[in-house]
Amino acid sequence: MSDADLHDELRGLVSGFRRHLQWRQRGGAFGVPLPRRPSLAQVREELGDCTRCKLHASRKNIVFGVGDPNARLMFIGEAPGADEDRLGEPFVGKAGQLLDKMIVAMGWTRDSVYIANTLKCRPPDNRDPEPDETEACQPFLFQQIEAIDPEVIVTLGRPAAQLLLQTGAPISKLRGRWHELRGRMVMPTFHPAYLLRSPDKKREAWSDLQQVMAKMR
Ligand code: URA
Repeated sequence: MSDADLHDELRGLVSGFRRHLQWRQRGGAFGVPLPRRPSLAQVREELGDCTRCKLHASRKNIVFGVGDPNARLMFIGEAPGADEDRLGEPFVGKAGQLLDKMIVAMGWTRDSVYIANTLKCRPPDNRDPEPDETEACQPFLFQQIEAIDPEVIVTLGRPAAQLLLQTGAPISKLRGRWHELRGRMVMPTFHPAYLLRSPDKKREAWSDLQQVMAKMR
C-alpha cells in the first residue's frame, strides 16, 4: 500500500469515527436523548406537537398509538390514513376492522395489545412515507418499543418490516419467518389493507399469525 493510500484510509477511519461520535451524541440508534427505558408517557411528551417533518402541516391529529402500555404483543403498521388522522387513533378504518378481527382470532383484543405505525402523521393522499419523514419519526417508534417492551412484534406490510429489520428485502421474502430486533421476536406479515384487496393472501397471513400464537402460548 502506498503512503497516499494509507493516508486516505486513515482519513476515512477518522471521519467514520467522528460521525459515529456525533451519532452517539444525538442519541445513538434511537436519535432521541431519553432515558434508556422511557415510559410511554415520556415518549409521547418528547414527541410533543411535532413539527420535525413536513407532514405536520397537513395533519389533523398526531396518531401516537393505542393499547396496553405493557402489552406482550405489538402490531406496527405503515402510517395513518384519513380516518386515523381524523380520530387520532391507528387502524380505525376498514383495514383496522380487519386487523381487529385478526387480533381477536389470535385470542387477544385491541386493548390487550399495542398498535402503532412507522409514521405518526398522515402522508397526503396516503402516499408512501418519504425517507426524511421516516427518519424524523423512527426514533419515536423505537422508543415506544423500548417503553412497551413487547415479547413479539408483528409488522404489517412492507414499510414497517423494512424499517424494523433495516433491510430492502421484499415483504414476500420477509413474511412468515422469525426475525430478531434487540432480543425481541419480529414476525412480518401482510398489511390488512392489502388483504382486503387480495383476500387469497389471507391464508398466508393466518399462517404467520399462527406462528405468533404458538410462540406466545
Ligand atoms: N394503515 C396503516 O398502516 N395504519 C393505520 O393506522 C391505518 C391504516
